[in-house]
Amino acid sequence: MSPLTDGFGRSFPYLRLSLTEACNFRCTYCLPDGYQADGRPQFLAVDEIRRLVRAFATLGMHKIRLTGGEPSLRRDLDEIIATVAAVPGVRKVGLTTNGTLLPRRLPGWHRAGLTALNISMDSLDRGRFLAITGHDRLPEIQEGIEMAAELGLESVKLNAVLLRGLNDDELPQWMAFLRTRAVSVRFIELMRTGDNEAYFKQHHLRAEHITDQLTAAGWHERPRRADAGPAREYTHPDHRGSVGIIAPYSKDFCRGCNRLRVTARGDLRLCLFGDFGIALRPLLQSDDDHDALLARITTQLGLKAAGHGLHQGQTGLTPHLASIGG
Ligand code: SAM
Repeated sequence: MSPLTDGFGRSFPYLRLSLTEACNFRCTYCLPDGYQADGRPQFLAVDEIRRLVRAFATLGMHKIRLTGGEPSLRRDLDEIIATVAAVPGVRKVGLTTNGTLLPRRLPGWHRAGLTALNISMDSLDRGRFLAITGHDRLPEIQEGIEMAAELGLESVKLNAVLLRGLNDDELPQWMAFLRTRAVSVRFIELMRTGDNEAYFKQHHLRAEHITDQLTAAGWHERPRRADAGPAREYTHPDHRGSVGIIAPYSKDFCRGCNRLRVTARGDLRLCLFGDFGIALRPLLQSDDDHDALLARITTQLGLKAAGHGLHQGQTGLTPHLASIGG
């Protein structure tokens, strides 16, 4: 059994590491007023990241996703990717990004060892994209998606948060998009966070809105592998691309949880909506603390709860996803 197994038999081969809380977008559901710096300590440095990833890889983690905030705002991102990719045991290095810097920086990230890319794209319509994110950047993001395909990254996924009244009628356009492109579009149900209660009430829409249309159009849910994460994947013989559904309010969602998170300041978070963090940073200052770090991670994993409390409106410590790493 992997040392990263919790009291409910779930194991955690997957780490999401936030590199920064800063973001250059103002997505209406996340940071509508933009990122406000708070003067607290700096985000993890490359050496701290190396020690952290080495510890998780020693415990059986083999897939890491770098996220934020907007991770591409880190000037040392190439170095971070190369550092993480060089840790023995790490097989996949992913990045979740809003995609604005892809045309300029993707070749460097790819050379550094990036294998997987998740790009957020809430609408295929330029005006709607601007209204949701506060930035008219859809053309460069689309250029970046084509570039990722040309570079041959192992996996390219697009994230679209499903928003009632704002982008909930675009499935036909997405299906046309997926006919020729070997990418997966993930429709994510809007999650309630500490800061977005009124927005959530107005715009949350259940994922059945999409799955019912997919089924009617001849898409089929792919059988799930035992180690699959929480997404449900749909395919269609006439389409190269696929559709993933992430429905955090669905029954049994947390049963498929396979990931742990570490914030940009080095706190281990056992759940996206948990109400405590476990400080790992004091043990990231010296290679000599490796064993103590392993012990802290494995002991604390015992505190992971069976599921989140979102149904009861409990959003835990998370004011918005940029603060923890979405
Ligand atoms: N800045 C990067 C990006 O745009 O992908 C990474 C961080 S962002 C927090 C990660 C993902 O979380 C994005 O796809 C974003 O749309 C999604 N997200 C943010 N807030 C959300 C919420 N309340 N519910 C569902 N998804 C959310």
